[in-house]
Amino acid sequence: MPIDIASLHIGLTISMLTMAVALPAVMGKVNDAARRAQLGVILQGVGWGLLLLSGLFPPGSWSDRLSSTLSMAGISGGLALNATAFDLWCGHTVRARVQVLLAVLMTTGYGMGFASYPFRVGWANFLLGLQMALMAAALARRPPLPVGRWRWLLVVSLVLQMIVTVWRGVLGAFYTELYPTFLAPHPVNLAFALVANATAVLSLVGILLAHRDEAARALERLAALDGLTGVFNRRAWLVQAETELAVSVRYDHPLAVLMIDLDHFKQINDTRGHEAGDRALCFVAEALRTAVRAGDVVGRYGGEEFCVLMNHADHDAAKAFDRRLRSHLAEAGPRELGHDLTYSAGIAMRASRDDTLDAMLRRADATLYVAKAQGRARTLDAHMPLMLPA
Ligand code: GH3
Ligand code: MG
Ligand code: MG
Repeated sequence: MPIDIASLHIGLTISMLTMAVALPAVMGKVNDAARRAQLGVILQGVGWGLLLLSGLFPPGSWSDRLSSTLSMAGISGGLALNATAFDLWCGHTVRARVQVLLAVLMTTGYGMGFASYPFRVGWANFLLGLQMALMAAALARRPPLPVGRWRWLLVVSLVLQMIVTVWRGVLGAFYTELYPTFLAPHPVNLAFALVANATAVLSLVGILLAHRDEAARALERLAALDGLTGVFNRRAWLVQAETELAVSVRYDHPLAVLMIDLDHFKQINDTRGHEAGDRALCFVAEALRTAVRAGDVVGRYGGEEFCVLMNHADHDAAKAFDRRLRSHLAEAGPRELGHDLTYSAGIAMRASRDDTLDAMLRRADATLYVAKAQGRARTLDAHMPLMLPA
């Protein structure tokens, strides 16, 4: 069965243009990465369309030159945009400058050297090949974000496409008689057209799966946070705290847990309204976030109770944190909320290698209860066996 290259190119153009219309329609509201990917597909679709159109004009005419050059701009610019979209999705720093530079270089060189067929075909295909190689290399690099296996599909298809693209460049530049037009029935052209069709499909799969991965990550992040204050919710705090506790046991670092309960909070709600109560909770959460060190974990344990896990914190560090927080609330509370806000707290240190989070929380909670009983607005320490002489 004869396969003609023109039909494959028409198929490719139709696929790209269909994707260009379908992606914005199915993806809904999107972020920067997805916008780049969508625009990249649109540009590539238009690029392939223009390349086909250029074949209708007299070879070498100004309309041939213009449509061909614009088509190169579309294909190369689209590829650059897609490359930066995948950089973003994988969590890499975006290498936009190199890709954009290659796209500009490719289009300008192609337009200026259009009169020489070997030059323009060699130039365009080598630079496109380079763009594909860079994109494949970025996708193959270990991504900082958890990314699905789809990236390997893209790597394989990009490498294949790069090989046939460069091969086309070599033929066009050095064996021009074998490659008189991009539609000539040469095996390389056939391979290129087939691989380009497969890559288009895999790009679509890649874009949609990257988008889905990202949505799943956003949902996971959202599920870990308390809706009102934005700090970890109880479940997520416990998970995080267990991990930190295990690390602290392994390396024998000190670790403290501070359990905080706001004083007379019901009164704030009753006298100033529930919204004032909510504002106070957000204010405390923000104060906690600012007061902790990197690596500490803040969570909302219950209604007006917060928990802080302090990494590498000995008893003095935990007390110092508590003093900082208390004086901040005393100073900024009346200014920002219009009323005083105090809390009672219990500190529990990790007491031994066998200590558990559950036991530490129970000690912190019992101590907090004592602080309340002693008149509130104070922080007490749980019994600390490790602090005692052996
Ligand atoms: P104490 O000093 O003994 O801790 O007194 P308290 O009033 O703080 O203690 P209590 O446990 O009786 O009251 C806690 C209040 O916190 C009751 C509840 O209405 C309020 N609360 C819990 N969650 C929220 C919330 O999300 N928003 C607001 N505004 N109030 C909340
Ligand atoms: Mg309470
Ligand atoms: Mg309370």
